[in-house]
Amino acid sequence: MLSRLKGFQGQNGHGRFRLNGHCATSAATDHIIQVRQVVKTYHGSAGDFTALKGINLTVNRGEFVAIIGKSGCGKSTLINMITGIDRPSSGEVWVNGTAVHTLSEGEIAQWRGRELGVIFQFFQLLPTLTVMQNVMLPMDFCHTYPIPQRRERAMHLLDMVGLADVAHKLPSSVSGGQQQLAAIARALANDPPILAADEPTGNLDSATAEIIFQLFNQLVDEGKTILMVTHDPDKARRVTRVVTIADGEIIKSNSTAESAEVAEKNLPSHSPSRGEGNGLLLPLGGD
Ligand code: ADP
Ligand code: MG
Repeated sequence: MLSRLKGFQGQNGHGRFRLNGHCATSAATDHIIQVRQVVKTYHGSAGDFTALKGINLTVNRGEFVAIIGKSGCGKSTLINMITGIDRPSSGEVWVNGTAVHTLSEGEIAQWRGRELGVIFQFFQLLPTLTVMQNVMLPMDFCHTYPIPQRRERAMHLLDMVGLADVAHKLPSSVSGGQQQLAAIARALANDPPILAADEPTGNLDSATAEIIFQLFNQLVDEGKTILMVTHDPDKARRVTRVVTIADGEIIKSNSTAESAEVAEKNLPSHSPSRGEGNGLLLPLGGD
């Protein structure tokens, strides 16, 4: 499967996309993600809760960064700031030259569709569309490829992740692992430079998790930048950097040499989201 990844990138020849008024020059830097003094306060009926307390984070192009920390420490909130799924209360988020915190809702959706592939723990494929239609969706939304090429590209991506055989099935009739691979193919549809994954293997068995992790590694080798929230100490050990969050603050950011030790100390010994039957833990090959 992984060998099929070689050379799949850049087929649209579009280079990088930019929205008016929010772009740096092409010299834009190896700092593909910059989070500057980001504070996020949720306002609820029980009062205010500050989930991020002045986060600074710089990610270089081509890094594979694991974000770890105890449940509730702010990992998803941070990922949501970077993907533009949610907005900071204050501070700045720059992604590949775009000031994400300044974009309107409409601009964010278009921008995200082109610049970021987002992968969730529970896949979030649209249930009434086939696997292939799900993969075509970002191309349809962003008009990144001419219509006749979209189907071909979707099939190419599905073939790359080993799902050509189930392209015309509905998500509900393929396994959890296959749904996540389809979600990764969808995330790659517009050939974005960055993938952001929030516990992407949190709901999968360990063999499937390993396949997905190897796929991510291959994508990093091909030039993608990946941010991955994970509870898995084995996976956190094998990335280029581990960022540790506690109570809304980054308490450590270690490159690979030190990451094994950091992962060991900071990851919970048991992740409640993994391995506990919930009906979605199906074998990868099953359908
Ligand atoms: P993690 O992903 O590390 O488990 P989250 O980023 O989801 O943590 O949440 C961080 C904190 O912010 C938690 O205490 C959570 O309860 C709180 N939180 C998250 N989303 C909201 C929200 N929409 N409203 C209020 N509080 C929230
Ligand atoms: Mg979370």
